Amino acid sequence: MPRPIQATIDPQALRHNLTQFKAAAPDALVWAVVKANAYGHGIENIFDGLRAADGVALLDLSEAERVRQLGWRGPILLLEGVFETRDLEWCSRLNLWHVVHCEAQIDMLAVHKTHSGHRVFLKMNTGMNRLGFAPHAFRAAWTRLNALPQVDEISLMSHFSDADTDKGIVAAMALFQEHTQDLSGERSLCNSAAALRHAKGMNVRSDWVRPGIALYGSSPDHPTHTAVQWGLKPVMSLNSAIIGVQHLQAGDTVGYGSTFVADRPMRIGVVACGYADGYPRHASTGTPVCVDGVRTRTVGRVSMDMLTVDITDLPLADRGSEVTLWGLPQKTSSSKGGVSIDEVASAAGTVGYELMCALAPRVPVTVLETP
Ligand SMILES: *Cc1c(COP(=O)(O)O)cnc(C)c1O
Repeated sequence: MPRPIQATIDPQALRHNLTQFKAAAPDALVWAVVKANAYGHGIENIFDGLRAADGVALLDLSEAERVRQLGWRGPILLLEGVFETRDLEWCSRLNLWHVVHCEAQIDMLAVHKTHSGHRVFLKMNTGMNRLGFAPHAFRAAWTRLNALPQVDEISLMSHFSDADTDKGIVAAMALFQEHTQDLSGERSLCNSAAALRHAKGMNVRSDWVRPGIALYGSSPDHPTHTAVQWGLKPVMSLNSAIIGVQHLQAGDTVGYGSTFVADRPMRIGVVACGYADGYPRHASTGTPVCVDGVRTRTVGRVSMDMLTVDITDLPLADRGSEVTLWGLPQKTSSSKGGVSIDEVASAAGTVGYELMCALAPRVPVTVLETP
């Protein structure tokens, strides 16, 4: 028997999340963001759930090629644009739309020989200070692009640094507005947090939204809102089993460094899941976990292949009991709750995004059948 750990991907949940997300931005077209191999879920595994998206956004040419091979004929957007001139040939061949965020990318377009015009998304830096033209340089970039025979259509985009925080997007929006008002072209501004938190109150055109994390069922602004509060369902579940049980006396310790000390007699379940599976080593004692669908907590340090959970109050828990690290149980009735990936991430000082992306290749993945 293989080690009992198993990741389960539910494309139906993604479909549900997409529908849910569309309700938040009903007039916008949706770029489903599938970069980083669909946030660690596997593009092929979730593809069935995103058929209702209007476009697919990603970073790597190889991922774009995979999406085309899956039969996707709709728009594909390269969120970082091209890295060298040769990439533009791929864009022509695979019909990829691409972000233009710097002068060098305009230079590449200007020398590119093409028969079909390129669709580009010109990016403004509204305060994130990663990619994009400064607001005062935006118009000149637009004018330069607009004069190129290689360019068919220019859309305008930006990416907010604070859509998920109290600072919000008002100042960034104002900048974008000020420097784009009389430029033609579709607009794309909102990631998950911006669309869920701000789209309804936004007084600016938003033709395309770009949800990533919400599609995968994690809250973009946890703990302000939970995934359940946003109406999102987990797409990835990570389950394993108890492979050993220890009985502790008061004063006994658990795991490397003896960081956990029992203050009473306890039963401890040893779970086949560790940081080499992608479970965060920094998840501290008390991180929520489900055993046979019942919530309890981790104790002690997470090690490479194992972690330990408190089953003192779960007399039926034993070797073989199903343990849900995040998402929903798969063997136990899933009407019993699960564990949000956001709670685990919080306990480890990180975000759901990182845990999804870090699922280790050694974990077998099952894709639920779509009925
Ligand atoms: C990753 C990314 C998104 C999606 O962000 P989420 O927070 O996952 O919704 C949107 N736009 C750009 C430019 C991105 O890089």
